[in-house]
Formats: sequence, C-alpha cells, structure tokens
Amino acid sequence: MDHQPANFLLPSDPRTFGFFVDGKVVEAGSRPYFERQSPGHGVAVTRIPKCTKDDLDLAVAAARRAFEDGRWSRIPSVERASVLLRAAQIIRRRAEEIALWETLENGKPISQARAEVDGCAGIFEYAAGAARALHGDAFNNLGDRLFGLVTREPIGVVSLITPWNFPFLILCERVPFILAAGCTIVAKPSEVTSATTLILAEVLAEAGLPAGCYNVVTGSGSTIGQAMTEHMDIDMLSFTGSTSVGRRCVQAATGNFKKLGLELGGKNPQIVFADADLEDAADGVAFGIGFNTGQCCVSGSRLIVERSVARAFEEMVAAKFAKVKVGDPLDPATQVGAITTAAQNDTIMTYIEKGKAEGARLVCGGDQLDFGRGHYIAPTLFGDVTGDMAIARDEIFGPVLSIMPFDTVEEAIAIANDTVYGLAASVWSKNIDKALTVTRRVRAGRFWVNTTLAGGPELPLGGFKQSGWGREAGIYGVEEYTQIKSVHIELGKREPWVS
Ligand code: NAD
Repeated sequence: MDHQPANFLLPSDPRTFGFFVDGKVVEAGSRPYFERQSPGHGVAVTRIPKCTKDDLDLAVAAARRAFEDGRWSRIPSVERASVLLRAAQIIRRRAEEIALWETLENGKPISQARAEVDGCAGIFEYAAGAARALHGDAFNNLGDRLFGLVTREPIGVVSLITPWNFPFLILCERVPFILAAGCTIVAKPSEVTSATTLILAEVLAEAGLPAGCYNVVTGSGSTIGQAMTEHMDIDMLSFTGSTSVGRRCVQAATGNFKKLGLELGGKNPQIVFADADLEDAADGVAFGIGFNTGQCCVSGSRLIVERSVARAFEEMVAAKFAKVKVGDPLDPATQVGAITTAAQNDTIMTYIEKGKAEGARLVCGGDQLDFGRGHYIAPTLFGDVTGDMAIARDEIFGPVLSIMPFDTVEEAIAIANDTVYGLAASVWSKNIDKALTVTRRVRAGRFWVNTTLAGGPELPLGGFKQSGWGREAGIYGVEEYTQIKSVHIELGKREPWVS
C-alpha cells in the first residue's frame, strides 16, 4: 500500500469525539473535554469528553440490561463468533485510520501502529474460534446413580480499564475474549489515548454487536476509573496499568467482591550467555527496549550478561542503538517515536539522572533529543549497574537499559528473580540445558528463548508476583471471563432421608 508523506497526515483541527452508551454515540454537550496534543508534534489532535459518574451508571445499566436479557450472553456461540469475524474484517478495512489515531495520540511509529492494528484483527479471528471451543466437562465416574456436569457461564458485566502505551492492542487483547465468553463491557481508556477505544465501538456496532454490549465512558482515572473499581453492579474488572493503581483496584473491589484481572508493571530480565548468537542477541536486546520507546510492560529493561562477554556485548548493543532511527512517528522509516506524555518524559529523564548520580556508567544515550517539537529521548545504556540502584529496581517505562554481569547460571537466575515483578523474561543461549533451566527457574508469566516480544493470541499473557493476577488471551483468556457451575444429576430415585 502507498502511504502519504508524514506531515500530510496531521489534522488541521482536532477531532471531537463523543462517548458511547447503549449502542449510541453520546455527544459531550456541556461536559468539559481533554484536549490531546500529538506527543510527536505538539499539535492538538483529539478532544475527548470528561464523563461523569452518572454517565458511568448509565453505561453500567445498559451493559447489565444487555447481559441479563440474553441478547448476547445466551445466543449460540456461532452467532457470537460471526460478529467477531465481521469485526476483524472491519478493523482491516479501517486499519489505516485506526493506526493513524494510535500514532497521533500515543506517539508510536506509524509502521508499528499498522502492524499492531493488523494483529488486532487476527486476535478477533482467534477469539471467534475460541468462543466456539469454550466448553465444560462431564463426570461419568460418580456411580450408576449420579451424573456430574461442569458448565461455564459468562461472568456478567465486565469493566475494562486500559493504559496509554498500546491503546488499541491492549483493548483487543481483552474485548474479543470477553465478548467470546458472552459478557458485556464498559470500557474506560486512558484519558490521553481514548480515540481508538471509541472507534472500536463503531466497528463493533457495524459488525452487528447488539446495543449495550460494548460501552465506552471516557474520563480520568481518579473519577471514572475509581468509580468503576468501586461500582456495585460490575461483576469483574480487567485492569491494565501500573502496579500502584492495581493495588488501589484491589482495595476498591472489596465492596461487591468483584473478580479482578490485573495486568501490571514489569522489570523484565534479558539473560545473555556467552554461548548465544551474540549478534542476534544484541539486535533482540536493542529491539526489546527500543520497541514502543521502552514504554512497554514487557520491555527487557535489565540486561544480565555473562561476564566473559559483557564488555563486548555492551559495545554491540551500543552500536545497534546508534543505528536505530528515532524521529517523527508519522515517518514510515521511524523505529523509535515520541515519549507519550510530558510527565513520562520527565520521569525517564529523572531516572537517567538518578542512574548517573548512583554511580552507573553511561555507555550511550541519556539525552533529550531536540526535533523542534514533541518529546524524544535517545536509547540509553548504563553499565556497571548494581541490584540496589533505582535504575535496576524500578519500572522506568522508557528506552533505558541497565547492564548487570554474572558468572554462573545460579547467579543469573538470582539476579533475574531479584525484583518484585514477574511479568516477562528472555534468555539467549545455544545451550538447551542452560536455556531451559533458566526458563523453569525464573519467575515470570511470559518467557522468550532466543527471541523477545514475539507473540500471538494463542499464548496467554499475565504476570507472576506483583505483575498481576489472571491471564489474558489464549483459551485461558476466554475462561477468565467465565465462572464455573457444578451440576449434580440424580438418575432414578434418591435414597429417602426419612423412611
Ligand atoms: P496507570 O496505572 O497510571 O493508568 C492505567 C489506567 O488506570 C488509565 O486508564 C488510568 O486512567 C486508570 N486509573 C488511574 N488511576 C486510577 C484509579 N485510582 N482507579 C482506577 N483507574 C485508575 O498506568 P499508565 O501510566 O497508563 O500505563 C503504564 C503502566 O501500565 C506501566 O506500569 C505498565 O507496566 C503497565 N502496563 C501493563 C501491561 C500488562 O499487560 N501487564 C500492559 C501495558 C501497561
């Protein structure tokens, strides 16, 4: 496909969105707006309504009605699957437009956004199959007189709170699975990246999803997000975001004991052994921290390298960083785009200063890049990092990589596990014994061997330790949104209790 030149795509005026309740767009009316500036260009691109708690109540009531009357929860799974398949086709048809809003609000490279949107269509297709594969169990071993069934039922009204780093991808790693299970949804995107969550409402309506099954209420985390977590008529909350807000969700959910799915932060190790294909590993490590400007929950931000090759490998990664194309997210050649918010930009720069102050050796990067507009940071590499430094412990959520050397397999495992997080990890080695030992012993929900950030909807996502609860995607991702009922069936006549 031919793509237009970068600057041509910047809108002359911001697009004003409404929110979405019970199958209809609701205009903001007298409600105030968030005005979003493109982080790569500093130009206003979208205006998003600041909804109220009353708006949330209306959306939850619509989702409740849609769930209880069975318009979605009780139809045959083949019909649910056909809506999801149509949605996939519409996403592909509107891919260019969705990718553009994603880039304008988030600052990610347009080529990356296009690939993500295409992947999202594939997730809907996978979930359509999963809807039909979902099943329970039967127990034929309870004796002649008792027969047992285990059925799965949709959990009910699910609220979805998403972050700003992959607004459409994270949404699509959850929505089709929730719908496949037969649940209804009230979504709240991050206040800085709401456009594509609202566009998905148009996609699903066109695909034939009944009114009330997917609602979007836009607004801040402290008002709409907090009210969602406390809401007494929401059966489950799927939250993706920081561990600190995840902790608040746990506390707020006690009102009605809503089920929680939590996908939280990470400080993910990349373990490189001397026997790895070092050229391939250096490229993978650079990709693992440069992708999405390191604003990625599964970024490989701790580089744990066998001491005998540590210096040589450091130089190889620095050479990769020097060649990475950082720049305008709308340029199809860009590999690393803008930092999504000014606040996140300041957080990353503060960590870079902390790293220097704590005695880490700055190998390369560390600078704010000046392109005349927007906020950009050069991929940054620190050597001589020790486990007690803030850059080794905290999730920076930026293109900052810390190198820590090791001498033995046991030491590599200990360094990798020395974190409160357990989201993801990579190991690079041509020795299968070492690679599998590390894979089995490092506590992380997602593992890559001689690659990183690879994936597809078949494999579940989720964290150990403080990286979260539950799993998204795969058949597990549909089951997560169901609850189990045991059915005990007497064949013939019961033994009387009173004779
Ligand atoms: P965040 O926690 O600040 O915000 C996430 C969402 O929560 C936003 O929609 C926000 O409005 C909302 N929110 C804020 N305060 C709230 C409250 N009191 N109650 C309810 N909702 C509230 O996270 P972020 O800065 O948008 O995203 C970055 C974080 O997300 C990182 O920590 C990253 O690791 C994590 N993340 C995790 C995954 C994963 O799959 N594990 C994926 C992407 C991002």
